[in-house]
Amino acid sequence: LTILGIESSCDDSAAAVVRREDGAARVLSSVVRGQAELHAAFGGVVPEIAARAHAEVLDHCVEAALEQAGIGIADLDGIAVTAGPGLIGGVLSGVMLAKGLSAATGLPLIGVNHLAGHALTPRLTDGLEFPYLMLLVSGGHCQFLVVEGEDAFRRLGGTIDDAPGEAFDKTARLLGLPQPGGPAVEAEARAGDPARIALPRPLLDRPGCDMSFSGLKTALLRARDAEMAAAGGLTRAARADLAAGFQAAVVEILREKTRRALDLYLELAPARPAFAVAGGVAANGPIREALQELCAERGVAFSAPPLALCTDNAAMIAFAGLGRLAAGEADGLGLAARPRWPLDARAAPMIGSGR
Ligand code: ATP
Ligand code: FE
Repeated sequence: LTILGIESSCDDSAAAVVRREDGAARVLSSVVRGQAELHAAFGGVVPEIAARAHAEVLDHCVEAALEQAGIGIADLDGIAVTAGPGLIGGVLSGVMLAKGLSAATGLPLIGVNHLAGHALTPRLTDGLEFPYLMLLVSGGHCQFLVVEGEDAFRRLGGTIDDAPGEAFDKTARLLGLPQPGGPAVEAEARAGDPARIALPRPLLDRPGCDMSFSGLKTALLRARDAEMAAAGGLTRAARADLAAGFQAAVVEILREKTRRALDLYLELAPARPAFAVAGGVAANGPIREALQELCAERGVAFSAPPLALCTDNAAMIAFAGLGRLAAGEADGLGLAARPRWPLDARAAPMIGSGR
């Protein structure tokens, strides 16, 4: 089975071809075109600009993905497209393109949940077996999911406000470091003392797996201002200490909450316990090490898919669509795009079915 995937739910336009042969899936091509430079001046993704950019480049992404895979449209068995959740204008760009291709070729159309795409990626990259525990941690997301089947996800908890990536980016801005903030803060933190400036660990003392990062941001702002007032400006040492203190707080929050999530997951007595971390923040060395160590303690296999497949891409969308394609299921032209689509609401939404 060979399937085309299309992704356009945020600020990356992407297309990919994935093939499944003898039970093993292979990424034949994965094309991603980011829009960061279009949004840079606005300090965030502008939905209207994103939607237009997707509409302009998505068809080229599809052409490039087919070409790189060395196949033509006639070699495909189906088309998978992100139908939500995300910025609706962007999602619509992808859904309309996929519908056009499906109508023109007669290929089955499959609507995929973007988060399911992320959550199933460790099966593509590391062959994890159900059920496994997943921490999705990026610029826009932070949640624990027990992935029990291709269409069965249990959310154990997540951030109640900001995502850690967003907090890293904000911290970088406050400290005068470049964007994206994650790598810059990580590098700066190496020279700092994580213990000198005390920052809070919100929600750490509460039961459960929910997390909060917005208070940390505010505390960092205050601590920075205090340092600046005391020294008449931000010294190099203070900047490094603030970065180190911030990163240490995020590491501790993620480690503690992952410990609880692992406990809940292990109650299911999985045959081959496994944990995967994905999302841009998973690139952070100290975060990765803390989680890996925790898994080793618990006898749980640790995996972290390569970054290109755990940030937004279309290979994960194609892969997530394979199961339904193989089962002969499809959505047809009534497939609706929707801005919100919780992972536990199973089927793809249809136009006219109510939202
Ligand atoms: P989403 O896909 O969830 O909507 P996104 O596109 O912003 O959000 P990703 O591309 O997965 O998310 O990740 C980008 C985020 O990861 C940025 O906030 C960036 O600062 C953060 N990040 C990247 N590298 C590191 C690092 N080494 N340490 C911490 N954070 C990092
Ligand atoms: Fe994403």
